[in-house]
Amino acid sequence: MSAQPATSTRPHVVDGLAGAIGDTPLIRLRRASAATGCEILGKAEFMQPGGSVKDRAGLGIIVDAERRGQLVPGQPGIVVEGTAGNTGIGLTLVANARGYRSIIVVPHTQSREKLDFLRMIGADLRLVDPKPLRDPGHYVNTSRRIAEELAAQAERTGERVIWANQFGNLANAAMHEATTGPEIWEQTAGGVDAFTCACGTGGTLTGVARALKARNPRVRIVLADPMGSGLWSWVRTGEVKAEGNSITEGIGQASAAPGNLESGREFIDDALQVTDPEALEQIFDLQQHEGLSVGGSAGVNVAAAIKLAREMGPGHTIVTILCDGGARYQSKIFNPDFLRERGLPVPPWLA
Ligand code: PMP
Repeated sequence: MSAQPATSTRPHVVDGLAGAIGDTPLIRLRRASAATGCEILGKAEFMQPGGSVKDRAGLGIIVDAERRGQLVPGQPGIVVEGTAGNTGIGLTLVANARGYRSIIVVPHTQSREKLDFLRMIGADLRLVDPKPLRDPGHYVNTSRRIAEELAAQAERTGERVIWANQFGNLANAAMHEATTGPEIWEQTAGGVDAFTCACGTGGTLTGVARALKARNPRVRIVLADPMGSGLWSWVRTGEVKAEGNSITEGIGQASAAPGNLESGREFIDDALQVTDPEALEQIFDLQQHEGLSVGGSAGVNVAAAIKLAREMGPGHTIVTILCDGGARYQSKIFNPDFLRERGLPVPPWLA
């Protein structure tokens, strides 16, 4: 058998996991487009190897740490992170592919499917109670403490340690500026009028906004916020005012705008709020009529894109993010008992 030719001689072959992250399709959402007279386009991040938009942040953060010499490929290293789940999945897969291990801190309230996935891929999973950000037991504070403790022992253990810090680490937004934003620009041939998405860290919004505004400063950037989160008021008034809860995971903030979002404030033109029933309507509609099964934040994003289309009027092209897939929330959004307990509508095929 002859040796495999280098992938560079095979233009459609990518090199390992890192090569498979990004370059997702931009899907025209036919019903949302028909209902508004706009082109509503969803970036299919649910098709990433780890199943979410956060594969990009995971790769960006680890490659940045390697550039800084904080991790060295082939030498022992630990990636520690606090996450709603998806970033932990992205980081763990990238860590596996590069010879590191991961310690992932997640509130136990996140979907069982994400926790099972993390265990399945070998993350050292640490579950914590949900706490306010100012509490030392909050998942982000817990992960920072674990990273600091391990770093203090590094000389003895010989393992390099990083705290990925997706909220404050600007390698997160930089990855979206280098990949997601330019992909959207190329896929629409520069014909994008507006971009909207919800924020967890704000990495996606800031990175895409920076890339699009650099190419056309007139592109409208709108933050989508689940009802109950305080980022909507932060955009409108500068103050984070949160009241209530949403069934969505990985998006919205109750106490402060994260560093990645803050770093893109100058690019944000407006914000929109989306209720759980509005998001669910889009999730169920996409699944049953377009064959696209997506999670809660994608529902918020598509509902926001539709609101924005109605505000802007027909003829505009509006891009949003389909952050992850529905299978990640079978025990929640697609579970009739979960919906009934919260007084949310149960679609006929689930009842
Ligand atoms: N949707 C889902 C399902 C997520 O897990 C996240 C990340 N926590 C986001 C959206 C938000 O992405 P970002 O952190 O880039 O703001």
